[in-house]
Amino acid sequence: MEFSLVIPIYNEADNLDLLYSRCKAILDRTFKDYEIILVNDGSKDLSINQIKKIAAQDSTVRYIDLSRNFGHQIAVMAGLDAAVGQTIGIIDADLQDPPELISPMYEKIKEGNEVVYARRKTREGETLFKKWTAGMYYRLLSSLTSIDIPLDTGDFRLIDQKILHVLKQMPEKNKFLRGQIAWAGFNQTYVEYDRAARHAGETGYNLRKMLRLAIDGITSFSNIPLKLVTYFGILVSLFAFFATLYVLYSIYIIKDFVPGWGSLLISILFIGGVQMIAIGIIGEYLSRMNQNILNRPLYIIKDSNLASTQKF
Ligand code: UDP
Ligand code: MG
Repeated sequence: MEFSLVIPIYNEADNLDLLYSRCKAILDRTFKDYEIILVNDGSKDLSINQIKKIAAQDSTVRYIDLSRNFGHQIAVMAGLDAAVGQTIGIIDADLQDPPELISPMYEKIKEGNEVVYARRKTREGETLFKKWTAGMYYRLLSSLTSIDIPLDTGDFRLIDQKILHVLKQMPEKNKFLRGQIAWAGFNQTYVEYDRAARHAGETGYNLRKMLRLAIDGITSFSNIPLKLVTYFGILVSLFAFFATLYVLYSIYIIKDFVPGWGSLLISILFIGGVQMIAIGIIGEYLSRMNQNILNRPLYIIKDSNLASTQKF
């Protein structure tokens, strides 16, 4: 099969008809054979009835109905697990991502890229708060991590089967797909677009889900928060050291000293520093354990002429 399109759906009843007809039109024009995988992520509205109706009249449409709301990333993963296309697309159901873009994105796949993500030039219909926090967040994330997670992109993208294979080898439970795909490497490129406002309905991402995703992104791709405390510990210990020098200086050299505060200050700073460094050491071990528990592949071979290596 040439192409699979995965669409996570949470309370999108009013978008499904238009979504389906727009996707259908562009897929018919772009691919010989394809499948559309609709994943219902525990919608509370009538989305599932709509999905079943669409699937009943079109054999290219498959659907997965999850038992409850598991969240966007997991819903996408459920669709990816079922996808059999050579190339796989991920797109939102609310038509913020124009399905028509799939065609130019697929051109870039044919040029030899394994990942083509869609990068938003502008975003419409979203609150200033969301734009601002998202902008800040992606910049913070890229400064904390050593992999290049592209700025201003969501999960709208096309990936090659190889990338899907890598994703399936990443057993972590806290999914942050845009980071995991960046981590996978290979040739990645992007096309730019203007992000529209939602066609109908309202966002399924409340503040709690957004925070969850943000924290997953940082903790899955950076150990810096665990290590920060060591630096604070060293800083506090330096304070203790200079405070000691200052106390000795005032006692023995300028001989102007109010007894009591010196020993208090020094012991508080000293104990504080020792504790923070100790926590930092625990953090170092924890981050190693974390990496091992993640159990990601150590490396991914793109190509080789060794007979024994597994190639994609
Ligand atoms: N979504 C989902 N499960 C959720 C929340 C959202 O499957 O718990 C889907 C939703 O139907 C949409 C996509 O994920 O297709 C993006 O969600 P949304 O448009 O609500 O997020 P926003 O664009 O506001 O960030
Ligand atoms: Mg949306």
